[in-house]
Amino acid sequence: MSKKISIIGSGFSSLASACYLAKNGFNVSIFEKNNSLGGRARQFKMKGFTFDMGPSWYWMPDVFDKFFNDFGKKTSDYYSLKKLNPAYRVYFGKNDFIEIEDSLEKIKKVFEKHEKGSSLALEKFMSIAKENYSIAVTDLLYKMPGLSPMELVTKKTVLKAGSFLSNIRREVRKNFKNKKLRSILEFPVLFLGAKASDTPAFYNFMNHADFGLGTWQPTNGFYDVVNAMVDLGKSLGVKYYTNHNVSSLNINEGKVESITINNKLFDSDIVLSGADYAYTESLIDPKYRQYSNKYWIKKTWAPSSLLFYVGFDKKIKNVSHHNLFFDTDFDNHAKNIYDIPDWPKDPLFYANFTSITNPKTAPTGYENAFFLVPIATNLEDSNDVREKYFKIIIQRLENLTDQKLKKNIIFKTSYCVNDFKKDYNSYGGNAYGLANTLFQTAFLRPKIKSKKLKNLYFCGQLTVPGPGVPPAIVSGKLVSDLILVDDKAI
Ligand SMILES: Cc1cc2nc3c(=O)[nH]c(=O)nc-3n(C[C@H](O)[C@H](O)[C@H](O)COP(=O)(O)OP(=O)(O)OC[C@H]3O[C@@H](n4cnc5c(N)ncnc54)[C@H](O)[C@@H]3O)c2cc1C
Repeated sequence: MSKKISIIGSGFSSLASACYLAKNGFNVSIFEKNNSLGGRARQFKMKGFTFDMGPSWYWMPDVFDKFFNDFGKKTSDYYSLKKLNPAYRVYFGKNDFIEIEDSLEKIKKVFEKHEKGSSLALEKFMSIAKENYSIAVTDLLYKMPGLSPMELVTKKTVLKAGSFLSNIRREVRKNFKNKKLRSILEFPVLFLGAKASDTPAFYNFMNHADFGLGTWQPTNGFYDVVNAMVDLGKSLGVKYYTNHNVSSLNINEGKVESITINNKLFDSDIVLSGADYAYTESLIDPKYRQYSNKYWIKKTWAPSSLLFYVGFDKKIKNVSHHNLFFDTDFDNHAKNIYDIPDWPKDPLFYANFTSITNPKTAPTGYENAFFLVPIATNLEDSNDVREKYFKIIIQRLENLTDQKLKKNIIFKTSYCVNDFKKDYNSYGGNAYGLANTLFQTAFLRPKIKSKKLKNLYFCGQLTVPGPGVPPAIVSGKLVSDLILVDDKAI
């Protein structure tokens, strides 16, 4: 009889691992506490508007393609993708913006316009970024379960040792003088959850993901990817259970014997948790936990977010699908995320309007809007604070894009620290897990296999390789590979 694997949570890492494990003959069930699948990538519908609640930037399409190829499928068997042009727009002041287009050649022209000689500098910077991307994705990402420091040592990475010692900010500042161009080049680091000055220069492979590979959009948004992975999983025999909150892991003789859901025991040969790591460990008797509260407190957490999902009863001018509002000083804002956790005085924010490229996500003639302000984890979250920031954002949006919008809001819903905690059992209300700093990379991240319980495994954005949808998918592959190796060894 095939072995029973219970997977906790239905984020991308869980969805991916379920497919790999089912393909290899395991009897796989996913248990999700919420009423829909996808983890932080849930979908929210209201009054004819559709929103992706979490991820919105589809980067690194090669990782998604590889996932489906591993099952003899193509991404296009499940959903259509469009390369966005412009990829995004960055506002620096009123009517002062830069649009990043869909090819490096076009982007080089924009750079040259803002700083003489910068197109050549960009070409060199991007060729290193491309080389790093190839090393990261081909040589490291899928071969780095985080079990040993030696995983990082390859012929190619040894030659790159210097770029682990320098940081993105230093490299960007060395090569570019223009403030706007610098902030655009530092932007991809936000996906790794840390400051550019704390992120190894090697990670400029994210600049290749940005300018080199481009920004893509599944027709109906990110939820197309969730549906695709669930469809694939169902075809392989995975069983999915929503509204199934795992409340304890029951141990017997050094193994998790069963999990408890709604007072019912579910026997399991193997348990894999894709729920936030710290929370999963809180469901185990303390003597079987690997990491103490002190361990988690000391970690550099990727930001939480204040989010707004808004319906407007008109089309919005002077914006693109993705928009960054970098008209204030990010260093000050970043201080309040990482150094002195507090609500930022002049926040940067991000907004997307998916109804610009897919009118079906809003009623005809209307626009949907998603606003995101990155904030520190564990900030005090109240309706008053949310309201205060909404006013700031809307005012700034009106000024920068030169239009009146407040009276056109049909509804708005907010989402913040308290919701992340309540909905996802997220540590400190984090949105993106643990940052990818030098000391939180690879074998220095929480382990994907428990050191204390022989059949307990972990995946997701707190483990290897780190935050973001592509890394979560890779995390699902890494943990499944390890489970298969361990299973063969028994
Ligand atoms: C607002 C926001 C914007 C983002 N933007 C981007 C982006 O543009 N591009 C990108 O690539 N990434 C983005 N990310 C990051 C990306 O969404 C995450 O890194 C990724 O989805 C995390 O996947 P995961 O597998 O770690 O699981 P998660 O998505 O964290 O899912 C874990 C699941 O476990 C469930 N769970 C928790 N406790 C239990 C329990 N006791 N029982 C059962 N189930 C439980 C939770 O409900 C949740 O569904 C964004 C994230 C957020 C929040």
